[in-house]
Amino acid sequence: MYIDHRVLGSTKLTGIIGNPVEHSISPQLHNSISFYLGLNLIYVPFKVEKNELENAVRGLKALNIAGFNVTVPYKKDIMKFIDENSKEAILVGAVNTVKNINGRLYGYNTDAEGFARAFKEESGEGFKAKQVALIGAGGAARAIAVKIALEGAKKIYIVNRTKSKADEIAGIINNNIMNIAESCGLDEEMNAEIYKKCDIIINTTSIGMYPEVKSSPVSRNICFFSHQIIYDVIYNPQRTQFLEDCGRFGCKVINGLGMLFYQGIYAYEIWTGVKIPEEPLKDLFRSFSNILDK
Ligand code: NDP
Repeated sequence: MYIDHRVLGSTKLTGIIGNPVEHSISPQLHNSISFYLGLNLIYVPFKVEKNELENAVRGLKALNIAGFNVTVPYKKDIMKFIDENSKEAILVGAVNTVKNINGRLYGYNTDAEGFARAFKEESGEGFKAKQVALIGAGGAARAIAVKIALEGAKKIYIVNRTKSKADEIAGIINNNIMNIAESCGLDEEMNAEIYKKCDIIINTTSIGMYPEVKSSPVSRNICFFSHQIIYDVIYNPQRTQFLEDCGRFGCKVINGLGMLFYQGIYAYEIWTGVKIPEEPLKDLFRSFSNILDK
């Protein structure tokens, strides 16, 4: 019989905790990187029930896990079980990556860093002196807003159905980074004026995500302009209705796959201390995009 040598007595463990986790494509990403680099590390999904988070963290620590990712709905709740959260994770209010060093847990947020790298690579632009509109005010919006503010944006508009949540993120930016954020509820006329002024418009809501693929966070009556860059954090489908509509105005449109990819790459680098070279990254990204096309 064939003897499988992939998992050995010395294999290090990493993984992801959340609920649900069945849809996650992070195991394919991380295990492919380990295979490519020849590192003896595996990544597995752990579905954790609501009232079991503390026990799960204690168990992972006791099993000497090298590190783990945290996904919905625990990115905020995990912070109280971490020994030291990074400054950026504290500002973002969420941890998606945990490293275990000799039983001490360190929390990071690689969503923000992943977004910034993907955006720059795919658009060829940064955020310095830019006017940016964020649609949505959930976890993804907060991570992106903090990052864009730290990178020197001139103005950030946060447009959200529940205005109080947009106010909260604007307050975090204005009180901790720079007084550049403004919040707004859903008002078609006012929103159209905001989008008109912006260089970059980012959808951070789940509107348009599979299976609601015909929905868009923006009314079809609103016009965009060909110099604008439109980003959608959604990656399934890869071309959302929002991107489709804005593409018709000649805008550069980018989906959230790169953000997902790079948050995973940064997590891997945090756990292993290995910097993954550029060349295999490009190849890996192409293969990774194909997983979702299937
Ligand atoms: P949250 O639940 O924290 O926030 C959801 C946001 O969407 C809120 O602003 C909410 O508004 C808004 N929203 C949802 N449904 C509606 C609706 N019908 N009408 C108006 N507004 C709506 O989610 P996250 O921020 O964690 O995630 C948001 C999206 O980002 C998801 O699609 C997720 O998959 C994606 N994502 C992608 C990542 C990537 O790597 N590419 C990383 C993280 C997230 P309200 O406040 O009014 O409820």
